[in-house]
Amino acid sequence: MFSDDHLPALQLTIHATTSSDLPAVLHALNTHHLATDFTADDTHPLTDLQPGHTYVTRAGADTAEHLATTLIITAPHTVFELVNHPAETQEGTYIGHVPDTGTYRAQCNADGAPLVPADDLAQSLATTSRTSGEMWLATAAPSLLGTRVRAALRAYTDLVPCRFCTRTTPRATAYPHDGWHVCPDCWDDRLYATA
Ligand SMILES: [Zn+2]
Repeated sequence: MFSDDHLPALQLTIHATTSSDLPAVLHALNTHHLATDFTADDTHPLTDLQPGHTYVTRAGADTAEHLATTLIITAPHTVFELVNHPAETQEGTYIGHVPDTGTYRAQCNADGAPLVPADDLAQSLATTSRTSGEMWLATAAPSLLGTRVRAALRAYTDLVPCRFCTRTTPRATAYPHDGWHVCPDCWDDRLYATA
């Protein structure tokens, strides 16, 4: 057993990456001893990734931020969510990142759900009290509540059925087709069929 058993669990979900980012993502995961489960053998580093799969390790307070920063710099096309669970001595950390949309950082509960301190929310609402709720949602909510990043991430966690096969595929990677969705495999098949 590892001596860091007392540390809280850290979960990293890679929602999407590119072949050019993959080596850097694998390097970051292996450097931080992330694996498919807590009992995985540390001497067998990851050599491939499953999009949408969650990788775990146990880590202290600074690891989440360090890992997220490493991924954002070395794998700039990679979409991910990271949760370091709260422990007696540290608050939980949630970090969600979607390239071109942004990064959202917040405290989180044991389920990984972001938490916003009541004082921060009250202060934000107080300073924009003369604007409408709609205005507040457009200007303050993206940074305080992560509304833009969370909406972009939902496109990777919402699964839609394929028009042509029995697979489901994340809405973000499906191709629109006459009001339906088409999975990448069927889309490729149809392109080759009509080429
Ligand atoms: Zn399909």
